[in-house]
Amino acid sequence: MKRDDVIKYHDLVNAEKAALQKGMNFGIGKNYSVFLMSVRRGAPYADMFDETDGTLIYEGHDVPRVGGGPDPKSVDQPLRYPKGGWTENGKFFRAAMDYKDGLQKKPLLVKVYEKISRGVWSYKGFFELVDAEIMSDGRRKVFKFHLKPVEKKPLGRIVELPHTRLIPTSVKVEVWRRDGGKCVQCGSTVNLHYDHDIPYSKGGSSFTVENVRLLCAKHNLSKSDKIMSALPWIWVGATVAGNVRKCS
Ligand SMILES: [Zn+2]
Repeated sequence: MKRDDVIKYHDLVNAEKAALQKGMNFGIGKNYSVFLMSVRRGAPYADMFDETDGTLIYEGHDVPRVGGGPDPKSVDQPLRYPKGGWTENGKFFRAAMDYKDGLQKKPLLVKVYEKISRGVWSYKGFFELVDAEIMSDGRRKVFKFHLKPVEKKPLGRIVELPHTRLIPTSVKVEVWRRDGGKCVQCGSTVNLHYDHDIPYSKGGSSFTVENVRLLCAKHNLSKSDKIMSALPWIWVGATVAGNVRKCS
């Protein structure tokens, strides 16, 4: 799976081999955790993406709603369960503090998926959990988790990803609506990908709806072939090394 691929909810469950209804899934993968996020209007949590420095701010989760119980939005988000075990908020919060306090050398790695539409998600890539805080939202205490985008290189090496490479969820939602959930070239509705029209590597923006479109895998591939044949002097070396990557 590549960053900015469009996936259906059941594919997401297959990819992670787990039901992910919870949204926050600590230690679900071998070396990573998973966050599901949504910045759409009416989304249950106030997740935010700061376009100026690329920090993703993910809100913790509420107590479960129980019949006859209080409105979960009026209750402090819990660090522990009533019986004492850590909630997902607690597990992620402890991981962030352990990293800040130097008890963990490396920050926790978190894979993020974002909701685009009902049953439709997009893969946002890997992030590092670098900080967390407990703050008031005006009514009660909530958790805020701070994540930085990263890229996983061969041999598990992690490098920082320029935040300008990330397509904000709001842009994806708008492009999804404009393109009708289809490849703009052939109308296919499967294996879709958010494509930078002018490639990111050529200065194309991630932040404007005009430079982002939906392409199916076939048209996404034929586009990168065209870019490569137009720039043979750049790509020859890469091809010889057997390491051609699409950069848009
Ligand atoms: Zn197509």
